[in-house]
Amino acid sequence: MTSATVVGSGPNGLAAALTLAAEGIDVTVLEAADRFGGGTRTSELTLPGLLHDECSAAHPLAVDNAFTRRFDLGAHGLTWRWAEVEYAHPLDGGGGAAAWRSVAETAAALGGSDGRRWSAVFGGLTERFDDIVPDFTQPMTRVPSHPLKMARFGAFSGMPAGVLARLWSEPEARALFAGVAAHALRPFSSPLSAAIGVALGTAAHRYGWPVAEGGSRAISDAMVSLLRRHGATLETGVEVTSLDELGTPDVVLFDLAPAAAARIAGDRIPARVGRALRRFRHGPATFKVEFAVQDGIPWTYEPTRRAGTVHVCGDLRETAIAERMVNRGQMPERPFVLLCQQYLADPTRSNGDVHPIYAYAHVPSGWTGDATAQIEAQIERYAPGFRDRILARNVRDVSQTRAYNANFVGGDTITGSNDPLQMVFRPRVALDPYSLGSPGLFICSAATPPGAGAHGMCGFNAAQSALRGLR
Ligand SMILES: Cc1cc2nc3c(=O)[nH]c(=O)nc-3n(C[C@H](O)[C@H](O)[C@H](O)COP(=O)(O)OP(=O)(O)OC[C@H]3O[C@@H](n4cnc5c(N)ncnc54)[C@H](O)[C@@H]3O)c2cc1C
Repeated sequence: MTSATVVGSGPNGLAAALTLAAEGIDVTVLEAADRFGGGTRTSELTLPGLLHDECSAAHPLAVDNAFTRRFDLGAHGLTWRWAEVEYAHPLDGGGGAAAWRSVAETAAALGGSDGRRWSAVFGGLTERFDDIVPDFTQPMTRVPSHPLKMARFGAFSGMPAGVLARLWSEPEARALFAGVAAHALRPFSSPLSAAIGVALGTAAHRYGWPVAEGGSRAISDAMVSLLRRHGATLETGVEVTSLDELGTPDVVLFDLAPAAAARIAGDRIPARVGRALRRFRHGPATFKVEFAVQDGIPWTYEPTRRAGTVHVCGDLRETAIAERMVNRGQMPERPFVLLCQQYLADPTRSNGDVHPIYAYAHVPSGWTGDATAQIEAQIERYAPGFRDRILARNVRDVSQTRAYNANFVGGDTITGSNDPLQMVFRPRVALDPYSLGSPGLFICSAATPPGAGAHGMCGFNAAQSALRGLR
């Protein structure tokens, strides 16, 4: 019987394992931590009964892709839940902007020419998104099956985020796009820096930004359950350091950062491949704080009280400065803060009127400071009285982030900088980016296309590559 070992049990490792196990391959998954799931774990981090997502929170690109279509995670306990407002962006003075699932509702709230332009950009893309997703969740080196639709998507995506944001004229619409563009963790002047904002912004209108009922761990729990049904072997507490520890499986897939994959594979991969993997560039880091908050956050801008995700960073200019600085290794006074209120969609995560709040700031790679006060100040700025409602907090600084998961190199939680070259070719320039250049050895982590997120598509694509090799 053909055998495969997957090193690492993040959503991509599990997706790869499941794709192979479903083909009758004898699969073993080895995980260094004491729990499966990598970036999809959920725990009581502050007070009893409060469920906090340790990493991934919202999952727009996991709702309907080739992997989640193939495997019925819903039958194994995964239920998506949506907040009424997908994401909001409060501004000084009590105003702000928000995105609803409906493009028309979002455009109407923006009003005037900015509303019309929001519809012009996101309306058409939303209608075509079902055809575009299969193309952009593949390596960009493959010929798209819908070239014209991809071209329209690419026309917006190829722009620097700061240029596309100026398509809108009022601070509200500009900030709304800036907040979603900041997910790329790139300077807004960089080519292709609009791409992730365009994709996630369109996904908000097509699929929403759902959370998993009971916490993101439900995503990996469902995959583990399916893997067990297929007879796979799964072990925690096994940190793999060398291929020699794995016996002689026919296929090995690394759900790891590229340099770690190169280190473990050693001289079993061509030297030029090892060099390319070690040259892979990581991006800025995150500094994360979980709060237990009595009665939730008293946001001044009302739609923010109904939003699953909140981008807390002032206007376009302030967001652009913050992103530029962290990419230069400098800590901004007012960092970009991404905040999630998952309990609005999924009340099972709260304990009565005490709610779990998830917030992280973008900070420079390897940063050694404490951003807790800055994160709280940013929230308090748009929600006076927030600090008085905090009952407990849990902090994960950059060094703890690195220790939490070896894939988060320098605290980089998106497994690789989204710079222009790595947006197209990752983890190295190759026709098959999943292959490590040696028969049977593959990389399947978020360092490969289509990149970060708990959507499983890197693992699914890598498993297809491995299956082609086996055939
Ligand atoms: C704070 C934060 C917020 C995020 N928010 C979102 C979000 O809202 N939505 C979203 O979709 N994504 C989000 N992400 C990103 C998402 O979590 C990751 O992109 C995703 O988890 C990557 O999956 P992966 O399988 O490639 O790797 P990982 O999830 O990193 O899993 C890798 C696994 O490999 C294990 N491992 C490492 N080295 C070894 C070894 N030598 N031997 C054995 N095991 C090893 C690790 O312990 C880990 O379990 C967020 C991430 C973070 C940290």
